[in-house]
Amino acid sequence: MTQLKKKEIYDLFSDLEMQSEKTLETIKGMRQQIAALIEENQALQFENKHLRDRLEVAGSPVKKESGLTQSRLNLENIYEDGFHVCNVMFGKRREEDEPCAFCLEVIYGQRN
Ligand SMILES: [Zn+2]
Repeated sequence: MTQLKKKEIYDLFSDLEMQSEKTLETIKGMRQQIAALIEENQALQFENKHLRDRLEVAGSPVKKESGLTQSRLNLENIYEDGFHVCNVMFGKRREEDEPCAFCLEVIYGQRN
């Protein structure tokens, strides 16, 4: 192989390497943005639900078939969506849908 051809090949590879690194940076950046958006979306969804639930609670204090009041049903929904409704961790995500005794007490417990 001639010296010239070798140089061309090396140049080609170093261009390719630079382009790949740039692309990788772009992908990393996009992934961070997506993660941030998902987090923001989750927070907004939770806030939205919380606000809607407060409106519903204000509108109808009647008991449903399950025997739970509307406000407890709302808490049950939030809990089933994977969030804590207990005083200890209210609004935090339940990691891997771990059960929480405090939450269950809030939703199903006897009210004093
Ligand atoms: Zn909890």
